[in-house]
Amino acid sequence: MKQLPKSPPPSDAEARRAVEPVVCYGTDALPAPDMALYEEARRGMVKSSQVTIPPRDARCFEVPAGHFFRIVSIEGPQVGDLNLWNLTDLSERFYSGKTRALHATHVSTGDRLWSSFPYLRPMASITRDTLDWYGWDEFGGGVHDVIGTRCDPYTNALLSGGEYHHCCHSNLTRALAAARGLTLGQAEAHIHDVLNVFMCTGFTHDTHQYFMKASPVRPGDYLEFFAEIDLLGALSTCPGGDCGASHSGDAARCYPLLVEIYQPQPGALAAWHPPAKNGYSGSHGV
Ligand SMILES: [Zn+2]
Repeated sequence: MKQLPKSPPPSDAEARRAVEPVVCYGTDALPAPDMALYEEARRGMVKSSQVTIPPRDARCFEVPAGHFFRIVSIEGPQVGDLNLWNLTDLSERFYSGKTRALHATHVSTGDRLWSSFPYLRPMASITRDTLDWYGWDEFGGGVHDVIGTRCDPYTNALLSGGEYHHCCHSNLTRALAAARGLTLGQAEAHIHDVLNVFMCTGFTHDTHQYFMKASPVRPGDYLEFFAEIDLLGALSTCPGGDCGASHSGDAARCYPLLVEIYQPQPGALAAWHPPAKNGYSGSHGV
């Protein structure tokens, strides 16, 4: 709250504040990822391809259902902004807000990335996170958030008045346009709120504002996913670099990121099927 309150507190203000919170979505009710199955599938996995994302740019990559993909830090600390779509239907895409509501502000091993309505199913499940030791720091910061949206040229123009063309939003737009033969306008409509891979963020204790701080990621660290459906991914190397100081500009030192695709152990997924689309009828009471 940036302004002083103008409304006098009621006589029972403290009692109202003292009411215990309730977690909105208990994770007990969520279909749990079969971590034992993933472990079996990743035991003999073999790298089948890789894509290097240059600094201040983005690239697309494809992951068949049942394969794994890793986002790997190379050369230096770098934050990545991730978009995911159903490979054969771009209208099904990663839903950052619902993933946040179902899991937490930051995700790690065992959490899943959920897709948009009307699909609302897991698109990918996190199977390894070499930064899971970080936990929560004294500022309330954690790693891999689903709070932030992505740096973009519109907010930059609003706040600074300038033009900058290598924000994650523009990087992702160019990458999707090139991968799918779309115009920039067509591609831009598919770009959505991201998973901020390796980014260290939180809310300030006093004003609850979104903050970032230098990522603890170092070369060799990675975040690994199991693809629950056939995926098209796009990853941007944020112009903020480790996001320790600024973004939406060329000031920060930036590094490439690597995406590796792994084939699972042969036969390990013989009885496995991609999750079905959400069971709601779609009638909305009509
Ligand atoms: Zn960015």
